[in-house]
Amino acid sequence: MVQFRLEKITDAETLLDRPQDIGADDPELKSATADPVSRTERVTRQLNRKASVVRNIKKWHNNVCQVCHTTIELPGGPASEVAHIQGLGEPHNGPDREENALCLCPNDHLRFDYGAIYLTDDLKVIDAKTGQAIGALRTHPRHSIDLRYVRQHRSYWTK
Ligand SMILES: [Zn+2]
Repeated sequence: MVQFRLEKITDAETLLDRPQDIGADDPELKSATADPVSRTERVTRQLNRKASVVRNIKKWHNNVCQVCHTTIELPGGPASEVAHIQGLGEPHNGPDREENALCLCPNDHLRFDYGAIYLTDDLKVIDAKTGQAIGALRTHPRHSIDLRYVRQHRSYWTK
């Protein structure tokens, strides 16, 4: 079950910690630094995702994108993103479970979330612009994908 948590976010950072040190002789700069970046206090509604789903998906796929088969290399090590096939938030309300998740690179995560690519029932990746298959989704024996979510995503973006 997806839970929501209400959280108050306050931007405590100031752009200029010591404005008196900057452009002290320049009246134009002085007036600019007298008015630091404004802040907005807001209440957000945030999905609490299960850490175990993210951990399992990334581990099974070794951070390799299931669409383009690349891994993002960062100074801290390889990285990937866990995408939900049927989105978690409104209006999709998909479940936070491995059968509804994919291991993707940031580019393919964005493409998938905005319907630029979608999946067939036999897990081919389709380019929405051309309607042509661009490859087969990379799979892992431990990671079963529930076709109910694949169909929901496809019908949402191809209607
Ligand atoms: Zn990719």
